[in-house]
Amino acid sequence: MDKIKCKKCQKEFYYDLQGTVYPGGKFDEDIECPYCGEINETVMTSQFVIIKKIDNDL
Ligand SMILES: [Zn+2]
Repeated sequence: MDKIKCKKCQKEFYYDLQGTVYPGGKFDEDIECPYCGEINETVMTSQFVIIKKIDNDL
């Protein structure tokens, strides 16, 4: 799991890739900020992108 900071709203969130890796089945998956919806990165993968907020309010 990787932590990135949104280039637009500057909030941090986690993303992870899950699922089967297989050749020839790659699609663009957007890594979208869960707070403001900004697309921070696009990865070519056959996996699913999981986005998790970092909840600092607990
Ligand atoms: Zn954002």
